[in-house]
Amino acid sequence: MTRMNEPRVLRSASALSAWRANLRPLPASTRAPLALVPTMGALHEGHLSLIKIARAHAHSVLVSVFVNPTQFNDASDFEQYPRDESRDIELALSAGADAVFIPTPDVVYPEGAQTRVRVGALSETLCGATRPGHFEGVCTVVLALFQLTRCDVAVFGAKDYQQLTVIKRMTRDLHLPVEVIGAPTLREPDGLAMSSRNLRLSDESRDDASSIYRALCAARSLWHAGERDVEALKLSARDQLSDQVDIDYLEVCDADSLELRSGVLASDPSNSLVIAIACFLGEVRLIDNLLLSSP
Ligand code: AMP
Repeated sequence: MTRMNEPRVLRSASALSAWRANLRPLPASTRAPLALVPTMGALHEGHLSLIKIARAHAHSVLVSVFVNPTQFNDASDFEQYPRDESRDIELALSAGADAVFIPTPDVVYPEGAQTRVRVGALSETLCGATRPGHFEGVCTVVLALFQLTRCDVAVFGAKDYQQLTVIKRMTRDLHLPVEVIGAPTLREPDGLAMSSRNLRLSDESRDDASSIYRALCAARSLWHAGERDVEALKLSARDQLSDQVDIDYLEVCDADSLELRSGVLASDPSNSLVIAIACFLGEVRLIDNLLLSSP
């Protein structure tokens, strides 16, 4: 069944406002009126799990599908990003979304738009260091989507740990009336974090990609066994990675400030730590992370 022209597929700001104005009246419930699940499409089970979490927090759920040009610092990555609109609509609505917002770039960025949102230090380590301008693009589009949709709740995956942290900070710093909820990472049976980019992996690279999760788990096990030397933790992760995995970064950082850690850590650190990796398999860039400890 194709749902391309159905009324729950919204492509313009006016269609979105009209839909928003007709949201079902709220029953006596503690749930917020509207939750947004922002995505770049090529939906998978990870995205669908966000929709289910959104439904538990809000009366209506809107999924946005927008491959945001301003967050790509590599033109060919943008062009090759997987797109399958009709499948996305079908999956989002079947998973419980009430509508899907699929704007064109001119809907999100009005002609002549020149405003950008930049979060400071949090967006300068990890992916911020190796993808200049990435988080500026992310924050700008997320703020625009918050404004367009006037959502009360927004759900983001912890798979993109730095993105979740940066958006929470932007929301707090700018007093945005949106509750940002973090959702756990869904994984394939071999541990690979689900990602739209996995579709671009060759069969061989797909096998190699399973070593990413093994690498993070090795560091986490060593951490739990008492190892506090960051280099030793990173080495244990690197040892597990397939030779075909080209590391962009592999870092241990503070889970709140995202400051990189080095040397020997306190045996009982007061803050949580995260081990985060970005790497290339061929041309495909994948990221993943695991929490090492909670205070
Ligand atoms: P994307 O379409 O990749 O921009 O992702 C849209 C949202 O889905 C983001 O909040 C991601 O963090 C989240 N997401 C992506 N992959 C997963 C996953 N494997 N598990 C849970 N959430 C995910």
